[in-house]
Amino acid sequence: MLNSDIAGFSSKLPDTGTTIFSVMSKMASDYDAINLSQGFPDFSVPSRLLALVNEHMQSGNNQYAPMAGMLMLRQQIAEKIYRLYSKYVEPETEVTVTAGATEALHASISAFVQKGDEVILFEPAYDSYIPSVKLNGGIAIPIALSAKDFSIDWNKVEDKISSKTRMIIINTPHNPSGNILTEEDIQILANLTRNTNIIVLSDEVYEHIIFDGALHQSVLRHQELAQRSIAVFSFGKTFHATGWKVGYFVAPAYLSTEVRKVHQYIQFSVHTPTQLALADYMRSLNSYQPLADFYQNKRDLFLRLTQSTPFTPLPSKGTYFQLFSYQPYSDMPDRKLAEYLTQKKKLASIPISVFYQNQTDHHYLRFCFAKDDETLTQAAEILCNL
Ligand code: PMP
Repeated sequence: MLNSDIAGFSSKLPDTGTTIFSVMSKMASDYDAINLSQGFPDFSVPSRLLALVNEHMQSGNNQYAPMAGMLMLRQQIAEKIYRLYSKYVEPETEVTVTAGATEALHASISAFVQKGDEVILFEPAYDSYIPSVKLNGGIAIPIALSAKDFSIDWNKVEDKISSKTRMIIINTPHNPSGNILTEEDIQILANLTRNTNIIVLSDEVYEHIIFDGALHQSVLRHQELAQRSIAVFSFGKTFHATGWKVGYFVAPAYLSTEVRKVHQYIQFSVHTPTQLALADYMRSLNSYQPLADFYQNKRDLFLRLTQSTPFTPLPSKGTYFQLFSYQPYSDMPDRKLAEYLTQKKKLASIPISVFYQNQTDHHYLRFCFAKDDETLTQAAEILCNL
């Protein structure tokens, strides 16, 4: 068998192993544990949407879609963006359908980050950002979010910005913390990047999952910032269809053109019947508007049910994740505790240290509450009996 020495190559991602999401999901299955680790919903895709995919397949729409996506879908996306963020975007040149948000993020980073370029991002960080930067020869400059409330210290950002800064990656609502950026945060980001060449990559896959009446602060709401930004979205989160891997990005034409050049060779185009079905389905506001209340009820239920756990919940303002601090219950490293809980208590979660390049451990675990009430009740019982 060949190994990398014999074959004469060195790994481009030597520190990357199997992601913690796969590890914990496998452990959950091996130990028959309730799986609140990986962020996927337990709920069915709306039956009308399923019927529409089937309809489009049956009527013969099964060949390649245009590279940038079916125009019908891009038009619906543009209308939705206008409705939500009062921003007019041109479907032909400024909206591109991708194979999930992951592809949009990777294509965006690949289009602009060159060898030696610096990319500022915030930790804990979604796990695809840093490998994408490294694959392109870029240098990730992680800035730690506040360990208390996961807010951004913009003074630190200002200190790190230099002539080498090519990109800043933000994520709101934020995975894994559940924090959200405010209008003031967005304004500060606009001020800091004014008169620079910095591109803002804004991961907004949880745009509809935001609680307590808060408004999602898309970069698209900010006329000036939108001019240097790529906003990334995912249908997976919105329609309980993470396995479909369909997402999109929205960016001014001069940026979209470059990202499309990469998308063209990673993916070329996305599943045609699904795009057509999504376009039909999205016409109804009802297709995404109830999502915030739906998940807020889940969050509130989970918090109510876990009131007597020795763990302490942190505020979850968006996403379908709830963080708990487990001190003083245990001094174990978070990874060890997550393994212990999965194997011995039959409840799988995600340790937050894995979202830091240097494995910073604040003794927090992340639980996904996108699960049916019975599963949440069983999980809460375990947490309360610790
Ligand atoms: N960004 C964040 C913050 C996410 O949580 C996820 C999904 N877990 C993605 C991007 C990727 O989305 P998709 O499945 O559409 O590729």
